[in-house]
Amino acid sequence: MAKRLFGTNGVRGVVNDDMTSELGLRLGKAIGEFFGGTVAIASDTRVSGDMIKSAVSAGLMAMGCRVLDLGVIPTPAIQYFVKTHNHVSGGVMITASHNPPEFNGIKCIAPDGTELHRSDEEQIEKKYEEDVPCKPWSEVGTRDEVLGAADSYVDAVVSLVDSETIRAANLVAVLDCANGAAYYTAPLLLSKLNVRAITLNANPQGEFPGHPSEPTEDNLAILIETIKHTKADIGIAHDGDADRTVFITEKGEFISGDKSLALMAEMAVSKKGGGKIVTPVSSSSMVEDVVVKAGGEVIYTAVGSPVVARKMIDTDAIFGGEENGGLIFPDMQYCRDGAMTAAKMLEYIADKGSLQERIDALPAYFTDKRKLECPAEMRESLMEHLKKLNAARTTDSTDGLKIIYPDGWVLLRPSGTEQIFRIYSEAKDTETAEKRGAYYEGIVKDFLNSYKI
Ligand code: MG
Repeated sequence: MAKRLFGTNGVRGVVNDDMTSELGLRLGKAIGEFFGGTVAIASDTRVSGDMIKSAVSAGLMAMGCRVLDLGVIPTPAIQYFVKTHNHVSGGVMITASHNPPEFNGIKCIAPDGTELHRSDEEQIEKKYEEDVPCKPWSEVGTRDEVLGAADSYVDAVVSLVDSETIRAANLVAVLDCANGAAYYTAPLLLSKLNVRAITLNANPQGEFPGHPSEPTEDNLAILIETIKHTKADIGIAHDGDADRTVFITEKGEFISGDKSLALMAEMAVSKKGGGKIVTPVSSSSMVEDVVVKAGGEVIYTAVGSPVVARKMIDTDAIFGGEENGGLIFPDMQYCRDGAMTAAKMLEYIADKGSLQERIDALPAYFTDKRKLECPAEMRESLMEHLKKLNAARTTDSTDGLKIIYPDGWVLLRPSGTEQIFRIYSEAKDTETAEKRGAYYEGIVKDFLNSYKI
């Protein structure tokens, strides 16, 4: 079997260490052989973006592909371009999303704009391993720059929300682009929706001088402070490649991804008078609470946005997403979409008023998250042990083991790509959540210690 190159979010590595121009070239050839025809390519704002994009493009052209270079745009913008151009056989996004600036990555996009299926990635890995021969000189491909993909993407988002209601609300937002790929699209989107934007880190700088590109509460301290000193209605922040969006209330409260997922799910179900919502087993029960109350149904999947998107297609779901701020709106496309998420949340507050009040009205749950080091070879026996231990309880093994309690749950799950074991415990109060988290941490530690020599 070919060596696994693709992780959950494409191929990633530290530039000029394991993410090199040689790797880009060879992988570009494998991708070119796989897709053939016309292939779109784009990057986020990382310093190494041009280098990796050029290497991959050279590989694609060596295999006879016509390369369409869309420039620096969000991941969902190239996905939308690929989806809406029938003559394009696939796409490549150069991004390492929220990773530190020394990282970069290569991610493939299927002809329908979704993230490439694992079995297709395996085919590319096989071609990479074989180092497929190049085409003869007369069949070498060309490269064209394509302007306007970002504008078309923003226009599509505007057309899929109630833009009249948003425009009429005269909203003010503090917008943090993290010096990333949203630097052009996010301010443009807000101006088209008549939202006055106070922008932070809206210049494209791949060293990420503003703050690390993961939109955590700590990294967004200046955004939170700015909201407290302005009369803004909402804070909006994107990650480095702008497929994810997180929000801050008008009072400066950081909203966890679970809560924005719950609000958007509730809006989708209320509007349609029912429908299916897809989310991974790791999402808070508050999502199910509000969805069921609004007359909808929740379908749980394994963790990872491609799995959620696939399930949404298969079940004809009306909305889906993950608890990290990656939300999927099927009217637009079956992938996480940062601009759609921002626009839909603006529609929500334009209609409902104070975001803080809506957040305070959500059912209260508390989560205790722990992670432990766990060698890959121990994963299976540890999971067997935990399953045996909980045989008498109500459990769900969609991904790892979820133990269901009357007032919460515990999710025990080894990471598929790292030597990490995660324990998530959710309950109606912090003490219970922590107590259960600590209990299972003890069990996992004891098991791993008993096998140490
Ligand atoms: Mg991202």
